[in-house]
Amino acid sequence: MKLDTKALRYLNPTDWRTLTAVETGSRNHEVVPTPLIANLSKSSVGDVQRSISLLAKANLIAKVKNAKYDGYRLTYGGLDYLALHSLQKSNIVYSVGNQVGVGKESDIFVVSDEKGEQRVLKIHRLGRVSFKKGVRNKRDYARTKAQKERGAGSWMYMSRLAAVKEYAYLQALYDAGLSVPTPHGQNRHHLVMSLIDGFPLRQIDKVPDPAGLYAELMEILLRLCSFGLIHGDFNEFNILIREQEEADNIKLIPVLIDFPQMVSVDHADAEFYFNRDVECVKRFFTRRFGFTSNEEGPFFKDARQAVGKDGARRLDVEVEASGFSRKMAKELETYMREHGVDGDAKDAEAVDHDTTDSEDHPDEENDEENDEDETESDSAVPNPHTG
Ligand code: ADP
Ligand code: MG
Repeated sequence: MKLDTKALRYLNPTDWRTLTAVETGSRNHEVVPTPLIANLSKSSVGDVQRSISLLAKANLIAKVKNAKYDGYRLTYGGLDYLALHSLQKSNIVYSVGNQVGVGKESDIFVVSDEKGEQRVLKIHRLGRVSFKKGVRNKRDYARTKAQKERGAGSWMYMSRLAAVKEYAYLQALYDAGLSVPTPHGQNRHHLVMSLIDGFPLRQIDKVPDPAGLYAELMEILLRLCSFGLIHGDFNEFNILIREQEEADNIKLIPVLIDFPQMVSVDHADAEFYFNRDVECVKRFFTRRFGFTSNEEGPFFKDARQAVGKDGARRLDVEVEASGFSRKMAKELETYMREHGVDGDAKDAEAVDHDTTDSEDHPDEENDEENDEDETESDSAVPNPHTG
């Protein structure tokens, strides 16, 4: 989905309050009645009317007529604006640049901070693929009354959960010294991290030392495990390769990304995910570089032994304590399973020899969908370590 930021600059404080009011009203109303918008935005009816028509024209809210009354709902564009506005207020994002990726469940943009330093904005858009396939009735699966009231189960709420989860793991891994982008901030379904100057392994045809790189990747898998974690989508799409000049040669540094599928080593299917991660790397190295290790494994039972050894931190436990609770994890996991969200592993399995993946994720525009939205506090979550 495109991110048209034109209107970002000319929205005035009343417009922002009105947009926020529609988001807040969406908690309990699928269609937010106009008087409620006026009430929540604490502005005069005249001002709110003006704002409403401007916001509707910019496709940030959409008019809906329901059986009893007319009102408005927030669009995905409107939610994007609210998230971006918060990230801008927190000085995490200054301006938005080009879109560099369209995933099945995310959009990736290059953004910059005030000093012009480039960063990556990842926008989670869970539910997009399912809507295309017309299975939208599924989104109402097993929603309890309480969940409905909170908007839980809706794809916007789930997109936020995915961003919260990904950011929590990114921070934990970064703090533990793993090779991952620097976390910069998160708000709603958006997260911001440093831009890695490199390419996905998938786009790399030749490496000077396949055995060395292979060993390094397996080492990363084992290291994650020792911290209590399994990536769950460890493959050539989610391993970026950065070149680093050293004395008289160039060293390839793998940088790990894409964490919404991470699981604890205590997860019921931990062994399955671990083996799948290992197999993805093995298969890719055989196909792409003609390299097959003569060592078997690594095996989950051995990796499991190293968990927490010598006082190693348990990042799975830390993340749970830091705010991405077990309950949230369960909600997201159930949603992902029900909706067939399975990361990049499926693409990685497909036999292919080309080195570009531009065809993998066709752009899906105008797929705006109506749903209830989740609202949260308006402050972006910054990284305490990087400011
Ligand atoms: P998805 O969940 O849709 O797979 P990813 O997080 O894997 O999203 O990002 C999709 C693509 O965007 C990556 O394969 C990579 O090419 C690019 N990308 C994502 N994050 C970064 C980053 N921090 N630096 C550079 N490129 C990135
Ligand atoms: Mg990915």
